[in-house]
Amino acid sequence: MTATSDHVTQGPPYGPADALRAPRYTGIRTFARCPHVTDMRGVDVAVLGVPFDTGTSFRVGARFGPEAVRSGSTLLRPYNANLEVDAFADQSVVDAGDLEITPGDAVTSLGQIAAGLERVVRAGVTPIVLGGDHTIVLGELRAHAAVHGPVALVLLDAHVDTGDAYYGQRYFHGTPFRRAVEEGLLQPERSVMAGMRGSIYDDREWENARDLGFDVIPCEELAALTPAEYGDRVRARVGDAPAFLSFDIDVVDPGFAPATGTPEVGGLLPREALRFVRSLTGVDFRGYDVVEVSPQLDGPAQPTALLAANVAYEFLGLNALARQARDAQGAS
Ligand code: MN
Ligand code: MN
Repeated sequence: MTATSDHVTQGPPYGPADALRAPRYTGIRTFARCPHVTDMRGVDVAVLGVPFDTGTSFRVGARFGPEAVRSGSTLLRPYNANLEVDAFADQSVVDAGDLEITPGDAVTSLGQIAAGLERVVRAGVTPIVLGGDHTIVLGELRAHAAVHGPVALVLLDAHVDTGDAYYGQRYFHGTPFRRAVEEGLLQPERSVMAGMRGSIYDDREWENARDLGFDVIPCEELAALTPAEYGDRVRARVGDAPAFLSFDIDVVDPGFAPATGTPEVGGLLPREALRFVRSLTGVDFRGYDVVEVSPQLDGPAQPTALLAANVAYEFLGLNALARQARDAQGAS
């Protein structure tokens, strides 16, 4: 599982084992077959699981998301032909394992997630988190805001997740972005939510998110945008703010991503969703997550976990491009 000797002498200290020497179905299940490392020295990007799922309103099971997405990631190859970048050549990538959580206790878990992730972010490492239900993003945003100040949110999700409380619970997978605004972790006027659809509680649901300051692009409007148009709209709004990209797998149609807690029909095709993610070059992302994968609901061949792994792979590509751009700026 360790880097090859070539990597040690010529490339980043950590990355996937060479698939031409170690077939990709071999080895311990880590993200993209990167080594499991918890010491953040020599690390640029850390993939972390957050197996918390008791903040859900419908189907549970996302506690097993990290494990499934890791398994879905074993086939990934280094070169991202769409973004035209090698995901591992110039960044040292590890799987840092799972953060501590407390099943059934969202408040305690959010504190654990924030503390665990802040250690990573403070070390100058970019985290890619595998959920877990969407409750966990509040802990992630606490960690990022503690280091970077309030961040811009770029959300792809079938839902706005700006409810106030469910069953009297204020810390829930339908409320994290309202809590994040209340806690001063976000710059909503720099943030864009897209992909919202399905039946909603009332005609105010999306308006309530807009009242908090978010730009909300419902799925029907998003589907009419080209990826380039979407990317331009996000860049224009986020500007140079430090940003966080959150991808709820339910933004994709449940025909293609059935393994999720709150499925809504009429969603994006996987190809469309991947294109929207790739269109986000030039945004200053400090962290990423892909959440709400509940693998026991997946179909044969695990299409949802496979897609989530590829979404995280696009995050790695965006991050590699951003690092290249920063290096070029520093060199000029
Ligand atoms: Mn969500
Ligand atoms: Mn959702």
